[in-house]
Amino acid sequence: MGLPHVAGADAAAANGQATATAGPRTAHGPADLSAGDFPQIDANTTLLVVSPHPDDETLCCAGAIRRVLQAGGRAGVVWITSGDASELSMVIVEKSLFLNSSKLRDLAARRMREARAATALLGVPAEQQFFLGYPDRGVLQLMTDNYATPYHSRFTGATSVPYATAVFPGDPYTGQSLERDFDAVLDRVHPTLVLAPSPQDSHPDHRASGILAIRALSRRNELAKAHYWIVHGGEGWPSPRGYYPDIPLNPPPRGKGLAPTAFVLTEDEQMRKLDAVRAYRTQMEVMSSFLLAFVRTTELYSSIPVPAPAVSKK
Ligand SMILES: [Zn+2]
Repeated sequence: MGLPHVAGADAAAANGQATATAGPRTAHGPADLSAGDFPQIDANTTLLVVSPHPDDETLCCAGAIRRVLQAGGRAGVVWITSGDASELSMVIVEKSLFLNSSKLRDLAARRMREARAATALLGVPAEQQFFLGYPDRGVLQLMTDNYATPYHSRFTGATSVPYATAVFPGDPYTGQSLERDFDAVLDRVHPTLVLAPSPQDSHPDHRASGILAIRALSRRNELAKAHYWIVHGGEGWPSPRGYYPDIPLNPPPRGKGLAPTAFVLTEDEQMRKLDAVRAYRTQMEVMSSFLLAFVRTTELYSSIPVPAPAVSKK
């Protein structure tokens, strides 16, 4: 099956215009931000964050997760992969120059434990932490060439979900199966707000996870619930790298035309985010300056997944 087209951007753009971004501080950022069309957060909010890898949910959305829980709402996270293709981590964390499938599965188990700890620090209960266990660096392949035929991970050697702690262990590595598992999580959570990766993100797993969420919500006629974020936003972003807690997150180069809303974090939300980032010890060993660059005064969310097409003049 070919690459699914991104349907319904207009429906998302037409989503509600409530403003709910103002914390006690104000963001001093560039002008390329929308006036604020992030939905109201209150006790009726049920948030689901779609995280391609362990750590993305914290980098993109720790402040929003915290805000929902503090307001008396519910928050859950679904991890599409367990981060089992990290060659750099193999070298630095595992001190191994060679890809070793059992070590990569061990590394994934560590990353899943870190994800549980990080999101628990934000207040997400264990029963709202969902690991699907699909292949790191293979999600786009599942949504295209391996929609019906199982994918083989060259990293772990797996052709099905190899993790006993996943929601559906043993499910085949196909796009069909991934969509079924993702639907089952939506059925369990019943989210009113979904924070998903934008298909504009430069990482293929992120793009494919965004498409997965868009397709699933479109089938349910619930696409207006989705808002989008970017973690891999183009060369050098976020800039500057490192821990600069007093400045906002600038819109990424790859987010051009997405008119993101600046979601301003309270100091407490920001400190919790820092704690959660630090819980990712394997990732902090490998790329701490990248991770810490997301602990800023703001998070950025857009109501459209991709830039609206230019209107041609006749
Ligand atoms: Zn990621």
